[in-house]
Amino acid sequence: MELPARFVERVLRDLGEAEGRALCAALDTPSPVSIRLNPAKCGADEGSCRIPGEDALRISGEDVAAECAGLVSGKCAGPIPGACAAEGADSRVPVTGVAGRSVCRVSGAEAADGSAATCDDAVAGLLRRLGATERVPWSDAGWYLAARPLFTLDSDFHAGAYYVQEASSQVVGRLLGGDALRGARVLDLCAAPGGKTTLYASLVGTEGLVVANEIDRRRAQVLADNVRKWGTGNVAVTCCEPRTVCDFEAWFDVVAVDAPCSGEGMFRKDDGARVEWSEGNVRMCAARQDDILREAWRALRPGGTLLYSTCTFNRDEDEGSLERLAAWAGGELAEAPEVRMDAAWGVVCGRVGVFRTFRFYPHRARGEGFFAAVARKAPDAGGRTRTPKARRSIISAVDRTSAAELARWLREPERMRFGEVAGTCYAWYAAQAEAVRQLSDALPVICSGVALGQIFKGRLKPDGALALFAGLDRGAVPVAELGEEEALRYLRRQEIAAQGLAEGVNLVCARGRALGFAKRIGARVNNMYPNSLRIVMK
Ligand code: SAM
Repeated sequence: MELPARFVERVLRDLGEAEGRALCAALDTPSPVSIRLNPAKCGADEGSCRIPGEDALRISGEDVAAECAGLVSGKCAGPIPGACAAEGADSRVPVTGVAGRSVCRVSGAEAADGSAATCDDAVAGLLRRLGATERVPWSDAGWYLAARPLFTLDSDFHAGAYYVQEASSQVVGRLLGGDALRGARVLDLCAAPGGKTTLYASLVGTEGLVVANEIDRRRAQVLADNVRKWGTGNVAVTCCEPRTVCDFEAWFDVVAVDAPCSGEGMFRKDDGARVEWSEGNVRMCAARQDDILREAWRALRPGGTLLYSTCTFNRDEDEGSLERLAAWAGGELAEAPEVRMDAAWGVVCGRVGVFRTFRFYPHRARGEGFFAAVARKAPDAGGRTRTPKARRSIISAVDRTSAAELARWLREPERMRFGEVAGTCYAWYAAQAEAVRQLSDALPVICSGVALGQIFKGRLKPDGALALFAGLDRGAVPVAELGEEEALRYLRRQEIAAQGLAEGVNLVCARGRALGFAKRIGARVNNMYPNSLRIVMK
């Protein structure tokens, strides 16, 4: 399908003939495929994804054909049998013994600074299986894949081990300072389906909180599913208009506006974006972005960071939105810290007043079209923290006996607070439990913390979300490790064999990662995987 003629005219005018033509040509090439790993489930020090008895691995960019041969000839005691034979030349994973540990090398895979990156063997297996080729250079956990696999038929996708996320948009973590975000309270104002929400959730850690808001109810449910799957337990999903959630004034350390836009950056990936594009739509989007930014500004505390992004090349929706914001908020704006971008990555860095701006053009950087900008609200901007009036209290206390039963399922129960909402028990990290209570009292919160399940006769009937929670204590119930085929049967909510399951409730895992629960009663197995999440594809 052709690019819209008025779009082509504009980019040739704005970017000049040569640059404009290069952009249009790139929009007719295939999109790169990329994922972002979940550190809570794939970290080198993370117990939950380790396969017992297997060792840590390193991934480097060396050409590994020789070592690969070594593995095949049996010289290596590495933990990935047959790895070299897997999935063709681009995904060779040889294993060699080094100082009592195992080293795994994936062709072309290295950190942005050229150093080897460490991850565990299950992660190396995952990267190999998906055909990971190299890191997304501006993202700590991002990887490009050689081709698009059928993610739906990969149990690790359902375990929340990674999120399929376009590469350019992964830069937002870097713009917010990466690990410097630990402990922060972030508002992701336009959040569904949750690509950036899950990235922020990984960065703020268990001391922080992400409030992920989505105006569209159906999309908010998808967002909630993705948040549960990510399993960090530090996200509250709300479904309201920006002005409602932003009544929590000067309450957030970071407000991220990933604005609904005319989607020119998606022209390569999505023909629908080309069909829907019009100059009228661009104007409508720009006006809507102004409204959203006004609300976002109220929610940001003095000294906090505003992150604005779109997936369009359109100046009116990008620099234009920032200029219009500066026209009324000018005196309250301040510079954000500098962000290092390697020139070789092809990101176009610029300024709009105090805003630092970052443009991704597909003919320059390896990703889709994307625009992002950061600035701060001046520390002396004024404005007091205000929360809207509580409408009702929906969280009630759990009794001591129930709390003891709930604690049994968690690795760090002392860091959590328990409560009950409509008959289901929840846990929230203590650091943000009061904040979540304030939100729940005032706004429609779709999910928050970790749904643990319901207590019957003193025993917990666990919720599917608990299986996906990275802080689950695996000693709480027997673990049933399924092969991939059986795991897919489980994820389809089909019958699975009782053999290998203990009597009663089991944690169902595949490749060492938790998927859900199942209950064995004699020769029968009750598949407890949520119906709404089941794979429907044949
Ligand atoms: N941040 C998301 C991610 O990384 O997965 C993508 C967000 S998408 C670009 C923009 C979102 O804004 C959509 O989910 C859309 O439903 C929502 N939206 C649409 N109109 C809106 C409005 N008036 N106010 C706030 N959000 C709106």
